[in-house]
Amino acid sequence: MLTLRFQAGELKLSEVFEVSSNARILTEIINVEIMYEGKTGYGQASFPPYMKEKREVNLGFLSRLDLQTFNSPFHLNEIHRYMDSLSSDQRPAKAAIDMALYDLMGKISGLPVYQLLGLETSNKLYTSLTIGIGQEDFIRRQLEKAKDFTFIKVKLGGNIDYNKHVIELIREHASQPIGVDFNQGIEDKEAAIDMIEWLSGQQVKYAEQPMPVSMEPDYAWLKSRSPLDIYGDESIQTASDIINKHELFHGVNIKLMKCGGISKAYEMVRLAQNLGLKTMLGCMVESTCAITAAAHLGSLFDRLDLDGHLNIADDPYKGIDIQNGELLMPEGEGLGVSAK
Ligand code: MG
Repeated sequence: MLTLRFQAGELKLSEVFEVSSNARILTEIINVEIMYEGKTGYGQASFPPYMKEKREVNLGFLSRLDLQTFNSPFHLNEIHRYMDSLSSDQRPAKAAIDMALYDLMGKISGLPVYQLLGLETSNKLYTSLTIGIGQEDFIRRQLEKAKDFTFIKVKLGGNIDYNKHVIELIREHASQPIGVDFNQGIEDKEAAIDMIEWLSGQQVKYAEQPMPVSMEPDYAWLKSRSPLDIYGDESIQTASDIINKHELFHGVNIKLMKCGGISKAYEMVRLAQNLGLKTMLGCMVESTCAITAAAHLGSLFDRLDLDGHLNIADDPYKGIDIQNGELLMPEGEGLGVSAK
């Protein structure tokens, strides 16, 4: 019998995190535990304010779930069908349930989750480090943290002068390749292509969601002219978005919180590859629990952006480590995550 426990909480950030739509010092979360035959599976849902998913609604969804009718975590697909029958949304809560079930399946099998999934273990995995929007002294502090990483991701927005200033500042101090994320900031396709052409001369490798979701009709135009790979993030939530929108982007950013967990992200990355898309595994501001869960899928992706736990002042979990940008998977079975 599966027994579910969950609790609302907050992650405190050690530094204000600003993107083109908002700035914040806290991220709301829900911690999930599923108990089965003396073992505990851990999961976590995260709710950045710009997501349409809200924590209160996800808490209501979790309180309606009755997992006691399922007699093993290996009934994962049935549990997903049951959750989808209750609601098509509440995907952060579903992601938390999904990772807790994988944690249990690994612990029962005596295998880390990536082995349970039959994935490679030989390749080293590297994550980018993300630099948020901020004043010059903030950017300089972030660059100091980024100096050992092999790739830097930079948050930009609709202010072209800011964008150029920050990239020039970074280029004075750092030579690593860069990816930029506009978080839908540029609301004009001509301004977007001008910006992207300028960036292509600065060792920038890709541009993520330059224009709003509402401008999707203009993305095919932008893609056909862009010297950089255009990745869809806010436009790509689920597998059906990949099917419907794959011609608009060179690549897609897949996140557990957007799609509903490890199983759905696995399905999406295979689908994206079959459609010829490049793939990035991303994250929100999340604790080590959710970042570690995502990292088990890491070998399937072209790019990893799994640094959402590095700016947390009071991370409730232990798990994955990062050294010089390399993801070091935890020892042990399941997710390899434990509560601090
Ligand atoms: Mg993004």
